[in-house]
Amino acid sequence: MAAYDYRCETDGVFELSFPMGTAPGTAPCPGCGSDSPRVFSAPATKASGGGGAPAGMPAGPGGRPPVPMAASMRPNFNNMNL
Ligand SMILES: [Zn+2]
Repeated sequence: MAAYDYRCETDGVFELSFPMGTAPGTAPCPGCGSDSPRVFSAPATKASGGGGAPAGMPAGPGGRPPVPMAASMRPNFNNMNL
């Protein structure tokens, strides 16, 4: 489920949840029942109240990118006689 914002002319913006990709262009306002157009300003994948999967990958310890190999492990080409 993903949350989508709609804007009622009387009651303002309200939020409804639909399965991903199935949100209609208009939805009835929960306050007055009038058809309200969908608002596209915010991302549609924001969590609303928990219960969903975490967004994105967790950062590594310390937030550092993984280092493939230590720089000191490189061979020293300056000592080679060609
Ligand atoms: Zn309304």
